[in-house]
Amino acid sequence: MGNLVAIVGRPNVGKSTFFNRLVGKRHAIVDEIAGVTRDRIYGKSDWNGVEFSVIDTGGWVENSDDIFEEEIRKQVLLAVDEADVITFLVDAQEGITDMDEAVADILRRTQKPVYLVANKVDNNNIRMQAAEFYSLGLGDPWCVSSINGSGTGDLLDEVIKHF
Ligand code: GDP
Ligand code: MG
Repeated sequence: MGNLVAIVGRPNVGKSTFFNRLVGKRHAIVDEIAGVTRDRIYGKSDWNGVEFSVIDTGGWVENSDDIFEEEIRKQVLLAVDEADVITFLVDAQEGITDMDEAVADILRRTQKPVYLVANKVDNNNIRMQAAEFYSLGLGDPWCVSSINGSGTGDLLDEVIKHF
């Protein structure tokens, strides 16, 4: 599969909402079923006539501390291996968590392009808070709201430059 964009990040940062924003309502699958591991979801998208595929890596078991970190690590490594571009979502309303740090540690080691995406920036107050994600060592965050769509166009303008 060419032109593949992976969406990674810990649970509840809005990966599936972001995926649905890119891929469209036809493929909308947002709700997670607690305790059920789901396969990764693939969708097709295009921006300014450039076609690409998107993987939503949401298929890990929610709320199970034992396999949590290990499962995230597995999904992130798979995505890094397979994708051409990685979008790493964090939650601007929650701030940095240990799990974000763990994902960032993996992503700092890849040669592939990684876009740090501060999601849930629904307004300008939250935008100020998002600056803290710079400390993850992946550059300044791209601020988006997957719910209202703000910022996603600017991000996609950059992402498709790789295709
Ligand atoms: P995932 O576990 O990373 O796939 O996260 P989901 O896409 O399932 O979203 C988790 C929760 O965050 C849901 O209640 C979403 O409605 C909410 N959410 C996602 N994106 C945004 C956003 O841009 N703004 C706000 N306020 N909430 C969001
Ligand atoms: Mg999800």
